Amino acid sequence: MAKGSAGRKVTLKSGSNSYPEQVERLQGMCHHGFITEERAQEVIERIQNGHQTVDEAVEELKESCPCGLFLPSRARRILNGPASPSGR
Ligand SMILES: [Zn+2]
Repeated sequence: MAKGSAGRKVTLKSGSNSYPEQVERLQGMCHHGFITEERAQEVIERIQNGHQTVDEAVEELKESCPCGLFLPSRARRILNGPASPSGR
């Protein structure tokens, strides 16, 4: 019996998400889902475009999460990640 040799397609997430890792990590911080994928993506893009500082974005996300699971210090590290590739 011939096994299907088509192989599994590696399905990438839709291309609309430019920073999947950062978005996912920010989202994961609030277990109640107050930080949406859209919101996380939005602040990351604003930082990348220079429209907002990391601190401002962190404040904004913090306000979106009333349950207090959101950690500003951790978010800052995540948001600083893509902006400073040589920072490691
Ligand atoms: Zn929360």
